[in-house]
Amino acid sequence: MSKKMMLRNTMSPTSIVSIGVHPLLSHKRRTISAALEQRLFCMTDARFRLKSFSKAWLLVRVLFEILLCATGGACMLAAEEKPEDLEGIGGRWFVRKTADKPVYFLLDGERYVDLFSYHMRDSNRDAIDEVRISHDQHSLIIRSQGYPNHPTADFPNSGNPNTIRIHDFTFYLPLLPRKAEHITRLPMGPIGTAINGVVFFNPFEQGGMNALEGYSEVWLDSCCGHPEMRGVYHYHKYPTCVKSPFPDDSNQHSPVIGFAFDGFPVHGPYEAKGRRAMDIESDLALDACNGHEDRERGYHYHATPGKFPYIIGGYAGVPDMRNNRGMTRMGYGPIRDNAEGASQLIAVISRVEPVTLKRNSRQLVTIHLDPEKAKRGVLPAGKPSWVQIGPCEASEIERSGNIVKATIDVPSDASIDVPLDCHIEFTGQSIARPEVFKKNNACRVVE
Ligand SMILES: [Zn+2]
Ligand SMILES: [Zn+2]
Repeated sequence: MSKKMMLRNTMSPTSIVSIGVHPLLSHKRRTISAALEQRLFCMTDARFRLKSFSKAWLLVRVLFEILLCATGGACMLAAEEKPEDLEGIGGRWFVRKTADKPVYFLLDGERYVDLFSYHMRDSNRDAIDEVRISHDQHSLIIRSQGYPNHPTADFPNSGNPNTIRIHDFTFYLPLLPRKAEHITRLPMGPIGTAINGVVFFNPFEQGGMNALEGYSEVWLDSCCGHPEMRGVYHYHKYPTCVKSPFPDDSNQHSPVIGFAFDGFPVHGPYEAKGRRAMDIESDLALDACNGHEDRERGYHYHATPGKFPYIIGGYAGVPDMRNNRGMTRMGYGPIRDNAEGASQLIAVISRVEPVTLKRNSRQLVTIHLDPEKAKRGVLPAGKPSWVQIGPCEASEIERSGNIVKATIDVPSDASIDVPLDCHIEFTGQSIARPEVFKKNNACRVVE
């Protein structure tokens, strides 16, 4: 069975386990102030509702609860909202111990989210789960095969000579990430991991040029990844095919899609309903690392589609050096964009229609090919063997002249309003490797 076929059978992600109200903040001083704010708010509210309570009694209650929090005792509201069987292991991390594998949860804003269960599966059929999670006193420990559990292009191909291989990575994420005084410069190689165990790379390829824009743009498949020489499949930009535990509907803060090696989470593009983090210009604007800090989540990064540094621009926190030995040699400061000129990628796909795809639907998509852009002005013969738009695979592909028509199934949990790339492949007896073409930002999914 081909890899693509196997991946078609993967299940949909698990849902959120519960919604809390009050964030359990790791830093003690923040815990006190946040808890106090919450309590004062409740008390103020209560004063209007329960007029028989005297102000003196309220003051005693408030003082009692401040004391309870300050001495490290469980803050009542937070304890009540957390599912009983979750045990805190440090910072925003919790575990549910089960007879089988432990299940790890991150407190993401107000939700306790099971980030990894969906990805702890053996989709490459080698009897080993692609992602395995454990922890020790200081770190969440991710063992990963670095193997994509979503459809990919057929590698090697005309856009990339490498093969995707299975690896045995161990990554350590600090349970209590802390901001550093200096930004640590990003090394080459893995800089973080998506929640499916596939690694993030910085925006540069070997040679140090921007891999996503300008003449140095490289060929990524429509899930935003490609393998390097050793076969490590990696993302240079917001990976639109990684399943997060709750779909990104662009109506709220985007879910966590992965982590930088300093332990801070990386979220999708949205900060709030219809508002991308990269468009914020207030105090909450993203810094040079692509991060910002709020009361609900503390410091966190956002992926910025189409905008350098795309995933993260540096480590704002203290990275665990065990994750990438290249970090020990790295200096300080954020990376800088060096894109120049026009892309050299073959732009055979001139247009994809419609540009908006309806979530949870089956749609006919028309792809216009421009033979003048092909090598020697000749397009491969026959119909494409594969058509993919973001995570959506096509069935029933037809071609008539320079027009390809493909039926696309848009899943019900597709992220809303994020740019999706389209790629097509031609395989044939006369072609040694699949000939591949792509169009960036071809479509987006709407409700
Ligand atoms: Zn790369
Ligand atoms: Zn944010």
